[in-house]
Amino acid sequence: DDDPRLNAISDSIRVIPDFPKPGIMFQDITTLVANHLVYKHTIDIFADRYREMGISVVAGVEARGFIFAAPIALAIGAKFIPLRKPGKLPGKVISEAYELEYGEDCLEMHVGSVGQGESVVIVDDLVATGGTLSAAIKLFERVGAEVIECACVIGLPEIKERRMLNGTPLYVLVEPR
Ligand code: AMP
Repeated sequence: DDDPRLNAISDSIRVIPDFPKPGIMFQDITTLVANHLVYKHTIDIFADRYREMGISVVAGVEARGFIFAAPIALAIGAKFIPLRKPGKLPGKVISEAYELEYGEDCLEMHVGSVGQGESVVIVDDLVATGGTLSAAIKLFERVGAEVIECACVIGLPEIKERRMLNGTPLYVLVEPR
């Protein structure tokens, strides 16, 4: 894409090698959100995309997904729903476990926060294997909601170009550098 805002977004992400462990090129979005104009560009791109799509729910994946999902929800007039790591949500939850490179993790959602037939966008900062977002999609499918799209600021080239996650559309702004 030749939207100049995408270059500014890409340039504002700091890459920290070997964090949290050797071999990982950590994509640090704290430098993006510390730049008011670039943060606004990022939210504007997503909000302009989803405003007219009849979205009733914008879900954020703990923790960095919250930073993008909440302002998108406000901008388009949808409700914000947090998808959290185990044991954090106080009410009754449904859980979905997923595989990590080493071990397993889990996402939880409050029961009753989303109704059957609602239209959902799921937001995270970065998609790598897609395991996290696939678990998030399953949570909404289990309650009868429709995930219209997953949205990430950063995506690895292979998954960014595929534009799909299992059967669900995936929208990614930039690739890691
Ligand atoms: P995955 O489930 O493999 O798609 O991994 C995506 C999740 O892991 C997201 O919640 C990201 O925040 C985090 N993540 C994975 N790799 C990186 C990376 N290189 N830099 C920053 N966050 C990452």
